[in-house]
Amino acid sequence: MSAQTNNTKNTNKKGRRQCIRCGTYKGLIRSYNLNLCRRCFREVAEKLGFKKYS
Ligand SMILES: [Zn+2]
Repeated sequence: MSAQTNNTKNTNKKGRRQCIRCGTYKGLIRSYNLNLCRRCFREVAEKLGFKKYS
């Protein structure tokens, strides 16, 4: 094992996940590994072609 292993801060590890779009911590959707909040997911979903099945 080299000495250059734990030289970086664990920033993007488990713990606080935030929306990659607006940066909020509330209402995050873990599904699909999107890391998006509800609002952003809704916007992105439309662009991606998600449709409501109801
Ligand atoms: Zn968002």
